[in-house]
Amino acid sequence: MKIICVGRNYADHAKELGNQVPEEPVIFLKPKNALLTPGNNLFYPAFTNELHYECELVVKICKNGKFIPVYRAKNYYDEVTLGIDFTARDIQDKLKKKGLPWEKAKAFDSSAAIGNFVPFESLPNPRDIHFHLLKNGAMVQDGHTRDMLFSIDTIIADVTQYISLNIGDLIFTGTPPGVGECVITDHLQGYLEGEKLLDLKIE
Ligand code: MG
Repeated sequence: MKIICVGRNYADHAKELGNQVPEEPVIFLKPKNALLTPGNNLFYPAFTNELHYECELVVKICKNGKFIPVYRAKNYYDEVTLGIDFTARDIQDKLKKKGLPWEKAKAFDSSAAIGNFVPFESLPNPRDIHFHLLKNGAMVQDGHTRDMLFSIDTIIADVTQYISLNIGDLIFTGTPPGVGECVITDHLQGYLEGEKLLDLKIE
């Protein structure tokens, strides 16, 4: 399996990091080793001094496909959860300045935390999924997928022009504003439509 991530998919988040709003989806990948499954905590990586959380809706692919048109994309996923796209922001800032790839900042071990999946069909409004993240009990991110620049279906159509999708692949669909730093002992809890799906600590 592979993990495909979308960057800058919420205009207000692109702005908070001083990035331009993209004209087409910004895509990057994380390896399988990046996956942090439910019940596991994140060990603070030694190479960074500025670890950021980015809470995102995560879609699980249920069918193999390539060159998928937007109108057929819905057939290729059936479960969603919340994830944290952990980012070594200090490393990323250095790489961005040099125009270099982001892997050291984004694709490290355990950098793709996921919660428990729920059926897509169980969501009250699939066109506007609401989610929020608590850090140590206080809300730090509050997102609505209606604010995405590129919808789930558009992302799938775009990605599969370049990279085929396989059963079990995950797509991190981008983060709303409110990203920030986390430190050892922090407790992150992610809620999708009011239901807690993600719960982990930084150790
Ligand atoms: Mg992200």
